[in-house]
Amino acid sequence: GLTATHVTVRYGRRTVLDDLSVGPLSAGAVSALLGPNGSGKSTLLRALAGIEPSGATVRCGELELSRMRLAARARHCVYLPQALPPPVHLQVLESVIAARRAAAPAGDWEDDEVSEALEILGRLGVDDLALRYMDELSGGQRQLVGLAQALVRQPEILLLDEPLSALDLHHQFAVMKFVRQETRERGMVTVVVLHDLNIALQQADHVVMLRRGRIEGAGDAREVITTPMLHHVYGVRARVE
Ligand code: ATP
Ligand code: MG
Repeated sequence: GLTATHVTVRYGRRTVLDDLSVGPLSAGAVSALLGPNGSGKSTLLRALAGIEPSGATVRCGELELSRMRLAARARHCVYLPQALPPPVHLQVLESVIAARRAAAPAGDWEDDEVSEALEILGRLGVDDLALRYMDELSGGQRQLVGLAQALVRQPEILLLDEPLSALDLHHQFAVMKFVRQETRERGMVTVVVLHDLNIALQQADHVVMLRRGRIEGAGDAREVITTPMLHHVYGVRARVE
């Protein structure tokens, strides 16, 4: 599993994450990272990915991620940001193949790359977009292609920051189903930042609850997402069914 220790992130004089430890997050399991706006979810994900300097030790099985250069680390650990970069004028299919090529060892990507990209787009329910241009897509369509770009890279560790935020109900389910299947079959460590507690309850194998940069609970969704916890973390009286 994935374990991070001594995660410390400061912005100016404000300490956002103070010597945090997280994990082990199991391989083959989807972990949901929950918490209020500003609680540090994105910062933690970036620290795990290594693009936010944090001084953390991050290990996953035999992989010592925190000792790797960023390019090597990015081959093992794919991070999909909350705010996607502005789209380039590329066809969807090309952009998915380009993402795969960036990750594959040289010379290893010639066969089947089109069919593989189409299959992933199909599993996300957007293969009909293959020949459309990225800069002509809707926000949700762009988010789905971003997911295809992440999944085609077949990382050991997949970090998704609010991947459902622009998606309709159908595609929310399609994405979670696909992510769960890939995580199980390939033994990935998957961490997904979510705001929807129902989706976390139904789809996550493990939940980590963050509040003001601290982990308030970690474990089974049913154990962590409780009425007292929601009151403590979000300040709301929500009944968990
Ligand atoms: P949201 O649910 O709104 O996405 P989050 O849990 O992902 O919130 P973060 O983006 O990790 O929260 O931010 C955690 C804290 O760090 C916030 O108080 C935020 O204002 C601060 N912060 C994040 N990025 C920066 C930055 N580049 N410079 C200064 N402060 C930052
Ligand atoms: Mg965030």
